[in-house]
Amino acid sequence: MQVFGLVGSPVEHSLSPPLHEAAYRELGIDARYVTFEPDPTDLAAAIEGARALGIRGLNVTIPFKRDVLDCCEPDELAARIGAVNTLDFGGERLTGHNTDAIGVKRAFAHHDVSLSGRAVVVGAGGAGRAAAFALADEGTTVAIANRTAERARELAAEIDGATGHGLAELDELLADADVLVNATSVGMDEDVSPVAPAALHGDLAVLDAVYSPIETRLLREAAATGATTIDGGWMLLYQGVAAFERWTGRTAPVERMNEALRERLASDDGGSD
Ligand code: NAP
Repeated sequence: MQVFGLVGSPVEHSLSPPLHEAAYRELGIDARYVTFEPDPTDLAAAIEGARALGIRGLNVTIPFKRDVLDCCEPDELAARIGAVNTLDFGGERLTGHNTDAIGVKRAFAHHDVSLSGRAVVVGAGGAGRAAAFALADEGTTVAIANRTAERARELAAEIDGATGHGLAELDELLADADVLVNATSVGMDEDVSPVAPAALHGDLAVLDAVYSPIETRLLREAAATGATTIDGGWMLLYQGVAAFERWTGRTAPVERMNEALRERLASDDGGSD
């Protein structure tokens, strides 16, 4: 039996076990997906131990996505983003990858949104970094707006052609934007939006990284303007799909994984992945 898993804290409400185990069942793969919550001071030892035990792949979540860079060889994208959410133990060297960025790209692709023109990313934390690099790599001109404007400017300085702003500039940035990503935690467990409804318009494609609740106030208000809306479940799904495909070399049963995720999201209080 192969073992995959997730390291983070907290992980007890993670949606990754049902997401991945649905794929193992569908394809008849003899595998389990297990969650681990190591003490932060033991992260390196935990990763070494996982390798020694023959664990094939690990996802990594809060608060370890940056610290784990020191325990692996990040690929080029993960190194630029400065965060790893997927460890691959399959080769000679332990490699680190950022499938959150792939999740952003594939969530838009799934909804036939072509990534060109202007994108606004609200947030400059882990999800904001992954989204900003992903969108820039696809060819959009990225503006990052963050509560702490300095953090947005620092991130923008790392990305060709990107600009960094405070939230006060958000309405102006959105006026001629094609794509909007909410990569803040605003809207999580609370019916609030990081964007004034009047700034939304029908030419936008809006991805909310928040998936608990699955239908956020931002997405409701964006849908009311005729915008294309993409909930955080799609990003979560495709980061998992990308990790699964890397680890197993198999094409993921995306529909089955999505069904499992949606079932859990409908019955659950969500979690951190
Ligand atoms: P993070 O690194 O802690 O960053 C949090 C971001 O939210 C920062 O930009 C922070 O701004 C901003 N923020 C927090 N409270 C705010 C408020 N009250 N008003 C305005 N901005 C506020 O967290 P993260 O890992 O990027 O996660 C952000 C969200 O994305 C979470 O809801 C998480 O669940 C979600 N996420 C989803 C996926 C997915 O697959 N769907 C993947 C990763 C993350 P400051 O810099 O000013 O503090």
